[in-house]
Amino acid sequence: MRRPAPREIVVVGASLAGLRTAEALRAQGFTGTLTIVGAEPHLPYDRPPLSKQVLTAQPDPPGTALPLPAALDARWLLGRPAVGLDPTARTVLLSDGTLLRYDGLALATGSAARGTPAAL
Ligand SMILES: Cc1cc2nc3c(=O)[nH]c(=O)nc-3n(C[C@H](O)[C@H](O)[C@H](O)COP(=O)(O)OP(=O)(O)OC[C@H]3O[C@@H](n4cnc5c(N)ncnc54)[C@H](O)[C@@H]3O)c2cc1C
Repeated sequence: MRRPAPREIVVVGASLAGLRTAEALRAQGFTGTLTIVGAEPHLPYDRPPLSKQVLTAQPDPPGTALPLPAALDARWLLGRPAVGLDPTARTVLLSDGTLLRYDGLALATGSAARGTPAAL
């Protein structure tokens, strides 16, 4: 039996991968509710210039904001990280207590280096 097409998709992580996921969903014809959750208070920005043009104070560093297509039609919930996931109930809990229901979920939270005691 075919599952019904998702009507509500939540993307956790509002950076490059989260943005590209949202763009791909719209490009492939997804017309339902698209919610993008970000831990940071900023809309997606390009990180490489932060360690190159901006920090090296080159004249006229390029803007770091990533272009947002008008057709994305996404709801941005920024500055409130996801802190809980219930795959059975299909809900994501945000740090401010907001509970988001989803039919489809994409995790685009990137990665962080883990230090080792030996490196100290
Ligand atoms: C200073 C710097 C310079 C770089 N230079 C280069 C370069 O020259 N060339 C190159 O190829 N790559 C470079 N990179 C790497 C490149 O920026 C990353 O590959 C790219 O940003 C990865 O995108 P991403 O969306 O997968 O993850 P990220 O950009 O790490 O985004 C993940 C997002 O998820 C959010 N998040 C995490 N947990 C949660 C949660 N629980 N709830 C909600 N949101 C959450 C984070 O706040 C973050 O905004 C650089 C990165 C940095 C930081």
